[in-house]
Formats: sequence, C-alpha cells, structure tokens
Amino acid sequence: MADTILDKPERQRETQTRISVLLPLPFPGPLDYLAPADMVHPGDIVTVPLGRREEIGCVWDTQSAVPADFAPSTEPAIDIKRLRAIRSKQASTPLPQSLRRFIDWLAAYTLTPPGLVLAMAIRAYNAQAPRPHLGWVRGDAALADLRITPARQRVLDSLGNAPRTTSDLAAAADASPAVIRGLAAAGMLREMPIPVSAPFGTPDPNFRTPHLSDDQESVATELRDAVDARKYSATLLEGVTGSGKTEVYLEAVAECLRQGRQIMVLLPEIALSSQWTDRFARRFGVQPAIWHSDLGGKRRHETWRAVSLGQASVVVGARSALFLPFPDLGLIIVDEEHETAFKQEDGVTYHGRDMAVVRARLANAPVVLVSATPSLESLANVESGRYRHLTLHARHGGAVLPEVALVDMRAHPPERGLFLSPVLTEAIDQTLERKEQAMLFLNRRGYAPLTLCRACGYRMECPNCSAWLVEHRARRLLACHHCGHTEPLPDLCPNCQAEGSLVPIGPGIERILEESRARFPDARILVMASDTLGSPQATAEAVRQISHREVDLIIGTQIVAKGWHFPHLTLVGVVDADLGLGGGDLRAAERTVQLLHQVAGRAGRAEAPGRVLLQSYLGEHPVMQALVSNDYRAFMEQEAAQRRPGFWPPYGRLAALIVSATTPEAADALARTIGEHAPQIPGVQILGPAPAPLAILRGRHRRRLLLRTPRNLAVQPILRHWLAGLRTASQERVDIDIDPVSF
Ligand code: ADP
Ligand code: ZN
Repeated sequence: MADTILDKPERQRETQTRISVLLPLPFPGPLDYLAPADMVHPGDIVTVPLGRREEIGCVWDTQSAVPADFAPSTEPAIDIKRLRAIRSKQASTPLPQSLRRFIDWLAAYTLTPPGLVLAMAIRAYNAQAPRPHLGWVRGDAALADLRITPARQRVLDSLGNAPRTTSDLAAAADASPAVIRGLAAAGMLREMPIPVSAPFGTPDPNFRTPHLSDDQESVATELRDAVDARKYSATLLEGVTGSGKTEVYLEAVAECLRQGRQIMVLLPEIALSSQWTDRFARRFGVQPAIWHSDLGGKRRHETWRAVSLGQASVVVGARSALFLPFPDLGLIIVDEEHETAFKQEDGVTYHGRDMAVVRARLANAPVVLVSATPSLESLANVESGRYRHLTLHARHGGAVLPEVALVDMRAHPPERGLFLSPVLTEAIDQTLERKEQAMLFLNRRGYAPLTLCRACGYRMECPNCSAWLVEHRARRLLACHHCGHTEPLPDLCPNCQAEGSLVPIGPGIERILEESRARFPDARILVMASDTLGSPQATAEAVRQISHREVDLIIGTQIVAKGWHFPHLTLVGVVDADLGLGGGDLRAAERTVQLLHQVAGRAGRAEAPGRVLLQSYLGEHPVMQALVSNDYRAFMEQEAAQRRPGFWPPYGRLAALIVSATTPEAADALARTIGEHAPQIPGVQILGPAPAPLAILRGRHRRRLLLRTPRNLAVQPILRHWLAGLRTASQERVDIDIDPVSF
C-alpha cells in the first residue's frame, strides 16, 4: 500500500507534535512519538521506529470509554525532546473510533496489554498489499486559486465519483502525471482508496421477503424498530428450534441494509455455517462476507479492507469478527448465544457473546442475542432489565416439538460389550422401516475414551496431560484430546508387560459406528465429527447427503447439534445423556441441558413429528427431568436458585488465576505464595489454590485460584493490586481468565 513518506522528520522537529501510537506488542500502553501537526489522526495506521526495527501501529487517543473501576493507571509522559518521529503513514482507512474504544475496553477488562488486542484487530491488515489502491477524486480547493490550463481542465473533466489511478486519469485526460501532481498539490485533487473488486455483492433487502406469522411479525417489528432507533439496545430473542428466530432476525438485518449500514452476525462455529450462508443468499440474493481464523491470507486481507471501506455490508463470522474495522456498524446478532464455543481460551481470553454486547454499546448499535436455550447470564440480564426479551412461542408451520423420553439403562441394559439398549435399537428399526432418518448422538470422538490393562489395571495416560488417551481405531492410535499427543496402541501393557491384555473401556462414536454396522447392516451410515469432517466443504457435503436422503443413520458428536435442518430426521438417540454431568463443574448441568435440547431440536418437522430417546442412568436428575418435560425455564430457575446465594455467576463476578509451572513443586509453591498474598476485602472470596480442571496440560502443572466478588465489585482492580508485586521465574506463568466458563 502506498505510504506517505515523511520528509526529513528530524529537521522539522519544531512543527511536530506528540502523538501516541499503540503497537501490536505486549507493552502496558501506547508509546509516544512525534509527527507533523495535523498529519496524522487517531486511528491512522503508521510505521514507527522501535529500537532498530520498524513496526506498524495505530495512532491512539484517550481511553475515555473504559470504566474507571477497571481502567489501568497511566504512565508518566516522556520528555518530548527524547521522542522519535514516526516514519510513515499508511494509506489505509483509519481504525474507527468504536473499534479503538473496544480494544481499550477489552484490554482493561481482560487485563491484557492493549497492544495484544490491537494485534487481533490488525492481523489481517497487510502493509505490503499490492498497489494500486489509491485514486484521485475532486478535491476541496476552489477553482479560482489556480490557473486552469487546458490540460488541467481535461484532468478535472475526467474525474468521476469513483477514484481513478494516476495512470488511468492521465491517459483519459491526455495529460502528463505532472499535471495531476500539480493539481493535487493545489488541493484540487484528493486521494481516496479505490474500492476492492473482490466479490462482495450487495445484499438486496427485498430480494425475497418472507410471509411472517403474526407472532413472528410482531417480533420482527420490534427488532426493526431497534435498528431504526440507531442506538444501543440489547435484546434476547428466545424461541424453540424451528420457531423462525433466524427468519425474524434476518428482517432486522434487512432493515439495517435499507439504512445502508453494516451488520455483524456471530456464529459459534463458522466452519459449520454453509447452511446459514446459503439461507442468507436465498433471502438477500448474494453470499455474505465470511470471517474466521482459517480464512486464507488474501481473502482475509480483502475482507478486512472491504469491511473498512464499508463495502462488505454483512459479515458473518466467528468471534474474531468483533475486531473488524466496521466504520458504520448498525446491528450485531449473536446466534446460539448460549454456546461456550464463543469463549476464547487461548491467548487473549474473552467471551465473544459478552464482548459483542460491549462492542454494540461502544458503536451505539443494537445487539440481538439469539437462542432456544438462553444462558443464565442472559436470562439474568433480562430479569434485571438490562436486556429486552422477545419470544417466539411455537415452531413454524404447525410443527410440534419432539417427544423426549428416557431410557432407563438400569432397567434396559444393552447386551454385554454393547452400548445401545434394545429400546433404542428397536426404535431405530422402526424408523428405518418407515424410510425416515435416525441419528445417534455421542459427544465423544474416537473409539474408546479409556484403554485399560485387564491384568494389572493400568490405564493408558497422556505423558503431557492429566488425561486418558483416547483410542482412535480407524487411525490405529491413541490420542490425547488436549495436547494432540499420539502413540500407537501397544501390544504389551507398558506396566506389567502382559500380552493382549489392553481393552477399550466405554464408547466413542467409532465404537457406536461398529455396533450400528453390525446391528443395522442395511442402513447407510454417515459419521459427523470434527475429525471426520475436515473442512467446511466436507461438512456441507455431509449435510447435502442427509437432506437428500442419501443417508439412513447419522452418528455424530456435538457438530450435529448445531442449527441444522434435517427434514427427514425423526428419531434422535442420545447414547449417553449423563456424559457431561461428571466432573464437579457448577455449570455442567446448564451446558448439558442446552446441548441435549439442541440435539433433540434436530428431530421432527411439520410433516413428521420427532422423537428423542435419552439413554441415562440418572433418570431423576433435574437435567433429565427438564429435558423430558421440556421445561427449560423451570430448570433455569432451579439453577438460578442454586447459584444466587453463593454469588456464583451470573449473580457475582468470577475470575480464575491459572498458575502453571514445569514441576508440581514449583506450581504448588507459586500458587501458595499467590494465595498468601490474597487481598482481604469484605465480600470478596478466594477459593483455592486447588488443582486446575486439567491438573497437567502439555507438560505444565496447573493450579487454580478463583476470585469471587459480588456483582457490584469489579475483579480487575483487585487482581491488578493482588498481582502487582508478583515475581515469576521464567518457566512459571500466571494466566488470568475473567468470567471463566467452568467453575
Ligand atoms: P430457528 O432459527 O428458530 O430454528 P428458523 O428461522 O430456522 O428457526 O425456521 C425454521 C424453519 O422454518 C426454516 O426452514 C425456515 O425457513 C422456516 N420458516 C420459519 N418461518 C417461516 C416463515 N415465516 N415462512 C416460511 N418459512 C419459515
Ligand atoms: Zn496430552
């Protein structure tokens, strides 16, 4: 991209002013530089000297958006005489103010150096993008200030609304580039980025408008009004699967398109979004721009630019789309808002759904959170009046919800070594006889979650993590699902050297596939798991096969729970409904209900009512009862009642400190030291240190401390104060997770 090279910066020191530049590096804040007065403005992307290197950064301004209770303190300013000048200004659109404020906010909230958050925003910015990207349009200077020669007149006559490059304009006007430069110097021409030609079509809000039911129409009207208000509001849109939530929020998207403003739609797993984008195309005539971390470099850069120039009007993406430079954001949608996949656990730890609400507030735009099973956080925000609540009450077109029944595994045990009870296999038989589809759901990849030595009781364990190795029989190996370690299945027990004594314990979906092949030899079976469907294309193809009835039985992990519409699916069998409930995580019950409700929602359409069978040993568990009675609300009220007294989220605030080191002794010692320095503040509780949920991960020994405060106390200043004087050795680390999803 063309840079404006600053002419002899050092000699012009007198006319230069101090500016702040945020660099994508782990500094506590922006650094000060010199730049000619009026040359750069907040948001401009510039190159600056740093030591002997050159870095790209963003001109920064004050952090007014960050609430005082978690804003970091600022550093004293460096003497202006010691400042270095910026090198050049990039010819790109500036980072919009709402994005800059969002970066400040997220950095302060998550206790992350702001530069690392900026890095997420400009990762796709490419200073080396090929020219030309700039062209000329009419400038602001008046004609009278310059003698107009015939050549100059021809240049002015050749200008249009769209910017033209120097060579293009010179050819069209039959003038030399010097004539153009002269006009530019006089202010009669102005440089402007040339629109990218990438295929970002313009969605047509009236391409195919749906006929909404009365219920849907009234919700759509409210959402359109929220868009028309052109200011921040937060809405929870709740409705059972198939009630038309997507249909209705697309009407809000249409309204925003009519205003010519931009829209961000966040989905929990963008790789699985082909059905969504196809549906978008049916409604609006073109595909939306897509954004996720696997996007190729060129496409990534094009999309970033198209967003920054306002040319991509709708972006559907993963949580990282939050950091795109929308100049005119008019609406944010978060679909499946309850999904924990919105939580980023690596690097900068943040919750995409919560940060979408912050992003909307700072852009002064409405946000709509969408779910059939809203998170307790969002329900609590409805209750406290922070979010408005809109509900769709029935499935569209008279479709009824599937009937959910328990299969008590104590009363109906499978045959020895098998995992499907006779009740379930008979139901599948009947479904297949009727030429309908059935699905088996088990949220566990591989063949068996545990490999045990029958002779000595030894269990095959990951050398790097406190986790069992999962057998993947198709790939003929054992794998750790946490660190990726793999090893061949040994012939002898590594502990007692017994031969042939290692046996698989428990099922993964490969084992269910094996059992199903034997039990339903004529059925066409398709496996859907993240490791069998490597790419979005493979996923799209699998979905196509299912929709075209080329499959009789689907066996899948949580991928199948996403918002697919499988029109011929009438039976869902949950192989192990109890699976998510172990482990002592307070949120496990909520998550299990949400996941299984979502899985159940795949079954049944208007023409063919659905049925769901839950294999469980815990029939009396509130989770199972909630699913059978389809009373999500009653269940969530019980959840709320359990969490409220102890100030567990969302009724209090929580932060996790994950202390890790390469030896257990070092981890214990560091965790103990941190625990001993814990602040003594009324109402604030410190839990732990205790082994972290994965006590060993990738060879690091992990301990966890939880900091819990009532809602009216922010955790950030407490943490900042607590950890201020902490010294850690090089192999020791303290990671902060604000609002951890597991607790
Ligand atoms: P949800 O997002 O709540 O699961 P969808 O918006 O996906 O519901 O709607 C479920 C199905 O019903 C989709 O196939 C959708 O096209 C269809 N549908 C919903 N509302 C309408 C409508 N008003 N007119 C036509 N089809 C509709
Ligand atoms: Zn591992």
